[in-house]
Amino acid sequence: MLYFIFTVDGDWDEYFDRRLSEKERAPDKQKLLGLIDQEIRLASSVIGGRFIHFVHTSPRVRDFFVQPEFMARWKEIESKGGSVGVHCHEDEPGRAYYFDDQARMEAAVGFLAKKLSGGGLKPLAFRGGYMTFSPKTIPILEENGIFLDLSCDPGRFQRHGDVLVSDWRGAPDNFYRMSYDDHRRAGTSNVFEVPLGIYIETQPLLKIWRRARQLEKRKGDVVVSVLAHTYDFTRPRMVLKIKLALNILKRYGTFINARQALDLVAGKA
Ligand SMILES: [Zn+2]
Repeated sequence: MLYFIFTVDGDWDEYFDRRLSEKERAPDKQKLLGLIDQEIRLASSVIGGRFIHFVHTSPRVRDFFVQPEFMARWKEIESKGGSVGVHCHEDEPGRAYYFDDQARMEAAVGFLAKKLSGGGLKPLAFRGGYMTFSPKTIPILEENGIFLDLSCDPGRFQRHGDVLVSDWRGAPDNFYRMSYDDHRRAGTSNVFEVPLGIYIETQPLLKIWRRARQLEKRKGDVVVSVLAHTYDFTRPRMVLKIKLALNILKRYGTFINARQALDLVAGKA
């Protein structure tokens, strides 16, 4: 059986734009609330609300997305069958990446996981900004009761200049239990990896359709994620593409939330 987890990383365009002033790079609350409302409506109408919104936290905006108006949206997502996850951008885009700094990651993951659970939510999944991940993060996730990671993009090897951003060379392209020593290998930790299968923004629809057909033909259970971002909802053409992609994918696989994914992989990996 083929399963998809639709994931929306809660980033905004200006976060990544180094040409802007600090003030211009700050997120616009009203605009983001509107985009998230669109995101929730689309997920509800096309895939029955079963998706994961990854809540952004970073040194730039540590607690912006746990303000009451946002927490109300995260609750709405859960009440409609979706899940929320922790999305740590421990970075200064284009300059510095702290995903391998255990103390920083502990503080960032702990902060957001506790804020979300304190507000009655169930953060069950993690994804590093830029698909970054360090094996040092595995025990941190375990301590916070997060047993699902969606940072893996099999084969990805990303650098900014001399700085390593993300390394998923040799990683499996289906779910696995992560090794404490190497996040790209199967092992004995309590954290399960669900790799990226479909990147809606970068892959043409024809390629997405072919990939879905390939995945459907594989033997056994296949669980992969499908990636989009909150900033996509500022572009009507991209919103249309997301709708079309999800409609294609649901002909070949079943969309599930984080809880369903954990139940599915825990017994099998
Ligand atoms: Zn991100």
